[in-house]
Amino acid sequence: DQQRYASIRERPCVTRDGARIALLMNAGLMADLPSLVSSGAEGVGLFRTELQFLTRNKVPRRGELASLYARVLDAANGKAVTFRTLDIGSDKVLPYMKATEEPNPALGWRAIRVGLDKTGVMRMQLQALLRAANGRPMDIMFPFIAQLEEFLEARAHLTREIHRETSLGHVLPATIRVGAMLETPSMAFAPRTFFEAADFISIGGNDLKQFFFAADRENERVRRRYDTLNVSYLSLIEQIVGRCDETKTPLSFCGEDAGRPVEALCFAAMGLRSLSMRPASIGPVKNILLKSDLSEVRTVINAAREAGEQSVRGAVMEYLRGR
Ligand code: PEP
Ligand code: MG
Repeated sequence: DQQRYASIRERPCVTRDGARIALLMNAGLMADLPSLVSSGAEGVGLFRTELQFLTRNKVPRRGELASLYARVLDAANGKAVTFRTLDIGSDKVLPYMKATEEPNPALGWRAIRVGLDKTGVMRMQLQALLRAANGRPMDIMFPFIAQLEEFLEARAHLTREIHRETSLGHVLPATIRVGAMLETPSMAFAPRTFFEAADFISIGGNDLKQFFFAADRENERVRRRYDTLNVSYLSLIEQIVGRCDETKTPLSFCGEDAGRPVEALCFAAMGLRSLSMRPASIGPVKNILLKSDLSEVRTVINAAREAGEQSVRGAVMEYLRGR
């Protein structure tokens, strides 16, 4: 399949009406990195750091993590990599973490909530990331931010670690960009200061969608029940795009839906200009975007919304078949 899309691999992703869409890949292992070249991804939009924690029987050491992250940056060869700090709890439980019985783990003590309550591991990971950069640019994002204060607190921890690195005489990254993952509907309506405080925002669509529709992403009985192209969900995306535009905050989308061509097309029509997905999806997504006129797709979406449809999928599919 990669073969099929080889002819467009080096082509920048520009739609027929001139919108430039950045296509990035998600990764979590060293073994994923060669896909940066074979897929034509422009960078790693989401590097999930959980695996190194999940596959050990104790917390990995700072030096070990720093050298792994440095190898990730080496392999990226100048392309940007966005590292997400540890996102555990819910479906990802560390074998050596005291199991906390929670009635609703997806709504429980997870991700940044753990990081902010037990700061030791997060601070160690931030140190490892700062050292891994060793003078190169470093992009870090915090998972599962549900209110402004959590982002400010996480960012303050990073600032403290930056000062500590300086006082220890370590080389700092050339640039440090600090982002938030937007995975709860609350953040679409956050105060303006949130959008100003974040250097960039990445929508975690897997979680955002599960919380928006109150449908467990892990539960086979309900997880496919709600269409991503449901007008309510597209309006949420539109709201987030609008909020980020107001403050000129760079916005990306990194859930699985970004890798589905029709979904990706509709997201782009709603204003998203950066999508991060599994490497194998980059070809098919680029293929549909190159052939599309986003303003036409937007007109189809708006017409379906005005007609009172529940989802725009039918209208968009009909448009795609007819063009
Ligand atoms: C998401 O929630 O969409 C996401 C990218 O993070 P994860 O799937 O790791 O929760
Ligand atoms: Mg998530």
